[in-house]
Amino acid sequence: MELSTTGDKKRYKVGIPRALHYYRYYPFWKKLLEELDVEIVLSPPTNKKIVEEGVTHGFGELCIPVKIYYGQVLKLVENNPDLDFLFVPRYVSEVPESYFCPKFLSLPDVIKILPEVPKILNFEVNVKEFPISTSAIELGKQLGKGQTASVDAYKKAQKYFDEYHNFLRDGGSVNHALRLVHRNLPFKLPKKQTKGDLRFLLLGHAYNIFDSFINLDFIKKLHEQGVEVLTIENLPEYLFKKPVIVNPRGGILRNYWRHEEEIMQAIRFFLTKGKNEIDGVIFLISFACGPDSLISELIMRDMKVVGLPFLEITMDEHSGEAGMMTRIESFVEMVRRKRKKLGLEPRWKSKIKFYEGT
Ligand code: SF4
Repeated sequence: MELSTTGDKKRYKVGIPRALHYYRYYPFWKKLLEELDVEIVLSPPTNKKIVEEGVTHGFGELCIPVKIYYGQVLKLVENNPDLDFLFVPRYVSEVPESYFCPKFLSLPDVIKILPEVPKILNFEVNVKEFPISTSAIELGKQLGKGQTASVDAYKKAQKYFDEYHNFLRDGGSVNHALRLVHRNLPFKLPKKQTKGDLRFLLLGHAYNIFDSFINLDFIKKLHEQGVEVLTIENLPEYLFKKPVIVNPRGGILRNYWRHEEEIMQAIRFFLTKGKNEIDGVIFLISFACGPDSLISELIMRDMKVVGLPFLEITMDEHSGEAGMMTRIESFVEMVRRKRKKLGLEPRWKSKIKFYEGT
């Protein structure tokens, strides 16, 4: 295989689609691939053309994030015909207790049937069966690297990923942090932090919340309405240590899906000790997402019990700006009136408090 050249160094050129895994794991894989001496090419932010391409290649009842993934892959390939590999990991599990959605499991198989795709760096992340360092060794092998180099790269990537998470827990936003990662800049909070008289918890998969094209710049719209936004990534690690037990009429159920488990773990805190720390919850879900539709019903019932305002917004490729704006404005107005009636101080006057041991 012909390798790309930078200076007098020959390096593989690997394309990463800016979709799905990107919004959650990009800092880890970027660092690991760079340590393995790879040149990374990232696809552009989602736009109308990318969505249209993805929709054309995805079958009808597929959720929008996967259609976007198709569109991002096609764009990457169109813009970079000289790619040596496409980076499409098979995510099965990242903790021993639960799985990724089946769409993640089958991703490398469906991507390879798209037109003109180069060879896929296909490796598995399956913590139920083996540690992530084993996935890194398998990835390194496909890039011609030995075990020692891959394990070293893995350790550096893990350290960097921990720093990234600490930055988010200190209040950094994911989109800001990803920009810093992309530009190889140190993690530093912006001088001007967004403050609001209201504080909402925004729930959903990272690819729904942080792809500002498909969600019509949802976070910016909330900021413009005077709302401070909290996402799962900003919450302390200990909230995610204990499993959520759902108890329908005496039977005991645990979440089967990893991301849904995290959403419910976050909610557990705000249903109990943290219920006075936020003014409302918004859940952004994708049309045709089975796992999300199941838990949103459970969350809605719990919100009613504690009296926390809850709004669910379903997105697809046809979502319209005007309709979304009306829903946001009326929700914000309703919550603001409620807070005013209770004579409460604006949120920006106090910082959120987390209590250990929930
Ligand atoms: S969890 Fe839902 S939105 Fe995410 S890939 Fe699966 S079906 Fe699509």
